[in-house]
Amino acid sequence: MVMSTPESAQVVTDWLDQNQAQFIEMADQIWRKPELAWREFEASRLQADYLEDQGFSITWNIAGIHTAFVAEWGEGKPVLGFIGEYDALPGLSQKNQPTKEALEKGAPGHGCGHNLLGTGAVASAVAVQKWMQASGAAGALRYYGCPAEEKGGGKVFMARAGAFDDLDAALNYHPGSMNMPGKGSSVGVNAIYYRFYGRAAHAGGSPHEGRSALDAVELMNVGVNYLREHVKDDVRMHYIITEGGKAPNIVPEEAEVYYYLRAAKMDYLAEVIERVRKVAEGAAMMTETTVEITVEDGYSPVLSNHTLADLQYRAMELIGPITFTQGEIDYAQAVNDAFPRTNADYIEDAIEHYKLPPEMAAKLDEYRDMPLIGGNFPALDAQVVSTGSTDVGDLSQLVPVSMLGTTCFTTGVPGHSWGNVATCGMSIGHKGMMHAAKIMALTAAELLSDPNLLVAIRQEFDRSTAGKPYVPPITEEIQPPGYATGGDTAQG
Ligand SMILES: [Zn+2]
Repeated sequence: MVMSTPESAQVVTDWLDQNQAQFIEMADQIWRKPELAWREFEASRLQADYLEDQGFSITWNIAGIHTAFVAEWGEGKPVLGFIGEYDALPGLSQKNQPTKEALEKGAPGHGCGHNLLGTGAVASAVAVQKWMQASGAAGALRYYGCPAEEKGGGKVFMARAGAFDDLDAALNYHPGSMNMPGKGSSVGVNAIYYRFYGRAAHAGGSPHEGRSALDAVELMNVGVNYLREHVKDDVRMHYIITEGGKAPNIVPEEAEVYYYLRAAKMDYLAEVIERVRKVAEGAAMMTETTVEITVEDGYSPVLSNHTLADLQYRAMELIGPITFTQGEIDYAQAVNDAFPRTNADYIEDAIEHYKLPPEMAAKLDEYRDMPLIGGNFPALDAQVVSTGSTDVGDLSQLVPVSMLGTTCFTTGVPGHSWGNVATCGMSIGHKGMMHAAKIMALTAAELLSDPNLLVAIRQEFDRSTAGKPYVPPITEEIQPPGYATGGDTAQG
């Protein structure tokens, strides 16, 4: 038992402390060269090369995706997975400074901290390898380089291809504003195009000859906006018009609207998709147009393993809080000052959102005037359904996992913003990343030391998935987009 003997736990955390410079450099290299979904050629190569040097064997092209790989070390059972992501977001280029200024206007940036996400998981896997070599613990370790979390969902294709099937448990974290394992869930999503076909005509001279595909799009949106009142609270339906015609004097022959439809349960999401289909067909009927419906991709809801989350909190307590310097606090405050939400607003929202019990609310309230929260908190989100989506959902339907969050962002900054890029390329993000690496490594070492823990984790997983086999949220025909070559990373 690693955690019951602090000296043994110290071996794991000491190795990470002594070797952190190389991981910080890896995270910074990925931060400096942000690559969009499916095109993470340099980031994936950087991590695979490092892991190969450490004795891991590398398999590329998982599920036919060029930037997806698995690095494996050890043999036999159990098999533990460390889950990495490395894609950036379009348009979020930002200098390493606390005020908004693009490094390269219009270029991508790491606004979700995935430069830290993948690297922290690499660090954790290698730390556990060193501990296994010293302790003689048996089993296999796998790092999964998972592309395109932000757009398209690499893990969905990897899950469909069976890449996670023989894992006993997976360790995963995501940069956030608090150190907290996850017991909550998040909604599933499908991205769907509705393309309408009508008949072009001169909009001034002979509009009666035309049948407007744009009218159909507008009427469909009106219909969906009325549907909103009659679906469950966790449902989200949002859209953009991706094509609306060429010129006002031509009745639009083709028009297209692009929807994300989300719900906490996949069977209810299927119902919503069916009702939206009726709305689309109704709009086509009204306008004498036709509609073609194309599902682009989908993510499943997240299922959290509470036993694993509690184990991660034990590891956090052993490690202690993150200590931020006055310089880091000042930097974070300068970032926060650019956004309307104050530090106190964040604390009040979190207390309400997580429905914190009084003693935990009091502990969080100590950070009321702070832009960074270094303390550790147990998983308090068991009742919370996040209305965003992640492809960790698909992994979580197949393997026990807990979504650990660590402090890499300031409290006042919204997700996917330049403010997050600004803290993920410097020491604040580095500290959050190494904190996560330690928590995951200690948890993994504990799982390898005490087989009963994996039994308990599996029993909980089996209970929560009983009678609900995993069904991928995409059909067989949907394939990941191919970006065959590195080097030419079409960004922006
Ligand atoms: Zn993310």
